[in-house]
Amino acid sequence: MGRRQLAGSVAIVTGASSGIGAATAVVLAAHGVHVVLVARRLDRLQALAGDLAARYGVRTLAVPADLSRRVDIDRLVAETLRAFGRIDILVNNAGLGMQGDVANLAEHQVRYLFDVNVYGPLLAMQAVAPIMARQGGGAIVNVSSILGKVVVPSLGMVGSSAAYTASKFALDAFSAAARMELASQKIDVITVLPGVTRSEFNDAFLVSNGGRPRTVPKSGGLLGVVPPERVAQRIVRAIERGEREVYVTAKDRLIVMGATAMPGLWEWALVRLRAWRMADRSRLARATALVTGASAALLAVAVGFVVGSRRRRASDPE
Ligand code: NAP
Repeated sequence: MGRRQLAGSVAIVTGASSGIGAATAVVLAAHGVHVVLVARRLDRLQALAGDLAARYGVRTLAVPADLSRRVDIDRLVAETLRAFGRIDILVNNAGLGMQGDVANLAEHQVRYLFDVNVYGPLLAMQAVAPIMARQGGGAIVNVSSILGKVVVPSLGMVGSSAAYTASKFALDAFSAAARMELASQKIDVITVLPGVTRSEFNDAFLVSNGGRPRTVPKSGGLLGVVPPERVAQRIVRAIERGEREVYVTAKDRLIVMGATAMPGLWEWALVRLRAWRMADRSRLARATALVTGASAALLAVAVGFVVGSRRRRASDPE
């Protein structure tokens, strides 16, 4: 059993109308948590709220909100307090992707992306932290991505852009700093770093002006695709245990370790992968890119494995 008792607590879950957010609301409700479901699509929130209340006997509230707007975030917190009188958990999950080369990114789209992926979670943390501190503690989960730890260039497909990566790096940094600052008030700030996850993410992302037509990857390639329920289970376990940073799969963790341990190799492989994806799709280029990209990725995973097992050995008691 984890150290935080979940039953009876009150959680706000943003982006609860689909994917990881909806799945997280289900797992929290199954643990007896009263849930406040937030997103723009009210019909979906209401359907899920009714379902969770009937299935798990918890209290639910559906709050329509556009999390790029401060006024909506303030209203969300006020409505939650009016309905439940407390806030124990905040899951900052709402977010979207973007495609496009740095040279072509449209300023208004990047600003909107940062409003939803960075400022929304930041303002929500600022709004709930004093409430949690008065209550004697709480948990804030920020759903980042493995792209909050490694940089990918635009590869002509969903999520692979500097703008999305930069937004997740920014969220990661706010999350880590808040963790240290709020520790004395017994507020756990947890960063979750999913890899490719099956959701509606691919249907709702921005394509910058001048960007190439989008292509939606059918699989996560070497990374594989995980169902949102798996990410949700990991999020809730992290809340119970008060963890710091969590990966969903060992492969995700190894990729990050490998890429950060060998940044030159990572960039070299991605330059080749990008060249193949964006321009030259001749057989020879394709074969070269696949062989070099796959070898580099495997090498990065191997390095990640070695670095990981060394760290484990170093932290094991004699
Ligand atoms: P999803 O199915 O598209 O869900 C995104 C959620 O965010 C939806 O509920 C959407 O609801 C909400 N949302 C988007 N813009 C909003 C806004 N302006 N105001 C309020 N809500 C908004 O995608 P997902 O994969 O579950 O994504 C959840 C989180 O996981 C995101 O932060 C994403 O960056 C992260 N992530 C995803 C993956 C992946 O491969 N899928 C990998 C790593 C990290 P409405 O449209 O109803 O507002």
